Amino acid sequence: MMFCYLNGQILKEEEAKVSIFDIGIMRGFGVYEAMTSFGLNILMWHDHFERFKKTADFVGIDIPETEDKIKKICLELIYKNGFKRSNIKFILTGGRAIEGIFYERNNPTFYILVEEWKTIDQKNYKEGARVGLAENLRQYPEYKTTDYITAVKAYSKTKQSGYLETLYFKENLILEFSTSNVFIVKDGVIITPEKNILKGITRKLAINLAEQNGFRVEVRDITLDEVYKADECFLTSSFKDIVPVVCILEKQIGEGKVGRVSHKMMSLFNDLVYNL
Ligand code: PMP
Repeated sequence: MMFCYLNGQILKEEEAKVSIFDIGIMRGFGVYEAMTSFGLNILMWHDHFERFKKTADFVGIDIPETEDKIKKICLELIYKNGFKRSNIKFILTGGRAIEGIFYERNNPTFYILVEEWKTIDQKNYKEGARVGLAENLRQYPEYKTTDYITAVKAYSKTKQSGYLETLYFKENLILEFSTSNVFIVKDGVIITPEKNILKGITRKLAINLAEQNGFRVEVRDITLDEVYKADECFLTSSFKDIVPVVCILEKQIGEGKVGRVSHKMMSLFNDLVYNL
């Protein structure tokens, strides 16, 4: 049994019901945010909340509670559900649809899920992940909305091929994965795209960790060609942490195994989050 929060109440999962008239369901009009917690420590809480606020402002939906109150609700859900590590998801929609595509910005649907974190196949961390590739620039790349049609479609294909993620590119530039950010390593320098991406919170943490530990980090455009010529590649996301990537479609990156820098980044990340 799992507890969740919906519009002012903590409820058992099976008691939580959303209207069939919700504009989030009817028109995909909603904001999404996702973060992870180790015990009661929510990783980078304030950064996640700021990104949630930024998207809610852009979409035009009022967040119905204060940051403090929402954090307290999350902590209560973590405590009640009793998971060692949790995935926390916020879903904020425009509420009841009025005349098809109208809504009231101050009457939203807001719910919070706190689910048990499940690790991906350990092979991805030990041997490196294989990923797919697709040309796609998300409609509002800087914002985290509920619209993941391309990602969900890509994942169905990707899963069959044993790929962990799909790398998005547009024209000649790589952008991000369907639910993660991308980094490459060339001659010891760590490089990650700057624009037309979701500014991942794990990306920010990884950049800070790298710089604090003496790596040079460049935030700039990266061409597809550069990825294939890179020594290493890795991805970052709240639910997957840092995962080395060794193959894009059937093309190997570097030596096709987990590189020194990826290894170091994974261990710096683990040292940090498991000692919070
Ligand atoms: N890009 C996209 C498109 C995503 O969905 C995610 C997952 N939220 C990320 C990047 C990684 O962001 P974060 O590190 O904040 O989880």
